[in-house]
Amino acid sequence: MPLVLSSHSLQEYLQAVHFKSALGLHAANIVDFITLVKAYWKSSALLEYSQRMKLQDVQAVLETVAPSELAADWDEVGLHLAGNGKRIRRAMLCIDLTPDVLEEAIAAKCQLLVVYHPPIFRPLGRLADRDWKEVMVARAIRAGIAVYSPHSALDAAADGMNDWLCEGLGKHSARSPIVRAEKHGSTCCKVIVYVPVDAAEKLRNVMWKAGAGGIGQYDQCSFNLVGQGTFRGGEGANPAIGVPGRLEKVEEIRVEMICRAEILPELLREIREAHPYEEAAIDVIALQSEATSEEGAGRYHVLETPVTVATLVRRLKRHLGLKKLKVALPRGKEDLQISSVAVCVGAGGSLFENYWQADAYVTGEMQHHQILDMTLRGKVVILAGHTNSERPFLGRYRESIIAAGGEKVEWLVSERDCAPIEIV
Ligand SMILES: [Zn+2]
Repeated sequence: MPLVLSSHSLQEYLQAVHFKSALGLHAANIVDFITLVKAYWKSSALLEYSQRMKLQDVQAVLETVAPSELAADWDEVGLHLAGNGKRIRRAMLCIDLTPDVLEEAIAAKCQLLVVYHPPIFRPLGRLADRDWKEVMVARAIRAGIAVYSPHSALDAAADGMNDWLCEGLGKHSARSPIVRAEKHGSTCCKVIVYVPVDAAEKLRNVMWKAGAGGIGQYDQCSFNLVGQGTFRGGEGANPAIGVPGRLEKVEEIRVEMICRAEILPELLREIREAHPYEEAAIDVIALQSEATSEEGAGRYHVLETPVTVATLVRRLKRHLGLKKLKVALPRGKEDLQISSVAVCVGAGGSLFENYWQADAYVTGEMQHHQILDMTLRGKVVILAGHTNSERPFLGRYRESIIAAGGEKVEWLVSERDCAPIEIV
């Protein structure tokens, strides 16, 4: 336990020393005083350090809010830049990474930027300062800032961006994704290690310390099965048990633990270091989970009480903090009652294609010919502007991250991040 001294106790001491100095400060008091100041500095430095999080732990929190396995298969979600390995004390949320936003994050001494739209989407051939993107990425690398993007995982997640946008429409009697998520990849692994019985406890402790063995609210979870292992060392081998050239039979334990995929490389390194065998037998199994009925692209939102287009528009303006929305109405149906709404943050055009279930379609932007097609089919289209339908969510995203375990990090929302286009 580090020695933690409050500033109060230091003040008391200083007052006492001040009083004594009037009488003539004794040499022993000076030594005490220096020791106390040193301990105070150390305790506040330790306290400050303990308030930081490892990048991989912050990633785990971000994954809890929006599991990257929910992302579309064309997307580039997850870590874009790993940063300089420093712990995370302060992080910034934004929609688009621009040079302006990057400078804001660097000036604010952030160690991490969580950027909704993937900043590196198409492969970068080189980093030779040929355009603003190359300059910006190189600058971010030099600054040692980590960059993470949740994008379509955050859209698809339960209580993610699309659910938040739906909240602005009014109470619902039913809500479901337009396309249910198919989970891609795996964020969780099972690690199985075969270890001699007397070395099993040490190995389990090493694995737990490296972050394995956590399930929900439980830690130090493992499964242990005793069995017999056999091996014969070849010429040049240096077996921990027995001698080369002779078949050995050893009572071993099969230790099983669950771990998050991002800690796997470090965990395997720790296991190999702690394992007594020259060649440790380790199995890694990627675990696949199924998406829930609440996860997926877009939302179909059935209103508890049908409303007029004017009411729906008024509600959306309030929810998004906007003065203007673009509205396309079917000719002669201005008094249409809206019972159901299809919702997609950003650009919902491709998701809404051939989806005729809803009365109204709410998204950020849509192409002219698609809008025309929809209105001629009797549908209402409401457009907020691409990032206008996304950016106001950042405050809620911040709350979700903190609630999911990110409270040690100070989460800022970028002030320079803004839509590149305005209606004037
Ligand atoms: Zn978008």
